[in-house]
Amino acid sequence: MTPRHHLDATTLVSYAAGALPPETAAIASLHFSACGHCRAKLLDAERIGGALVERQLPTWSEGKASILRETMLRALDEAHTVAAPAVHRADRSDEDAMPEVLQPYFGKTFSALKWRWMGSGAHYVRVVGPSGVVLLLLRIAPGKRMPVHGHQAGELTQILQGAYHDALGYFQAGDAADLDSEIEHQPVTAPGPACICVSALEKPLRFPGWFARKLQPVFGV
Ligand SMILES: [Zn+2]
Repeated sequence: MTPRHHLDATTLVSYAAGALPPETAAIASLHFSACGHCRAKLLDAERIGGALVERQLPTWSEGKASILRETMLRALDEAHTVAAPAVHRADRSDEDAMPEVLQPYFGKTFSALKWRWMGSGAHYVRVVGPSGVVLLLLRIAPGKRMPVHGHQAGELTQILQGAYHDALGYFQAGDAADLDSEIEHQPVTAPGPACICVSALEKPLRFPGWFARKLQPVFGV
């Protein structure tokens, strides 16, 4: 399935520059492994970045410039060699395997996760990464309406299985939802398999409404 919702330019450039926190970069690399469109854009960003460095820093020694180029190429290699996300699972044993970039946070398999009940047909696993960014793995039953919520800062989500729709469109496995703080949304999951997605939250979610306020402590953010 070709993704239709992509990383935004800021995320791409920040990733290319190595400026994203590792937790957010892990979610971005999940999207790169699913999306040729964004991989091509990443190549462009890295070429442009390299050209800018050479133009703006002509006094840099060749040694420094080549170290920088190597760093960029290594970053690119890593972006290309990350494990395929759950969407490309072929058999039942693969189905249980956690994408490689998520394993440091969530362990090796989905079946070993300690899902916690969140209400509204949803379960979650929440992990605070080493740089303080919260990673949230969500599993939401089909046909469920989530509380309306906004974001105090950007949130990057990759959909691993199933689908949902909100005011921004229809999101399915392989798609990224790269949201800024302006957006307030209410995802509704599609019929079919449970929707599993993973988010890097730069800052706590902000839920309006009594129901959502009740849920917010559950996130512990
Ligand atoms: Zn993309």
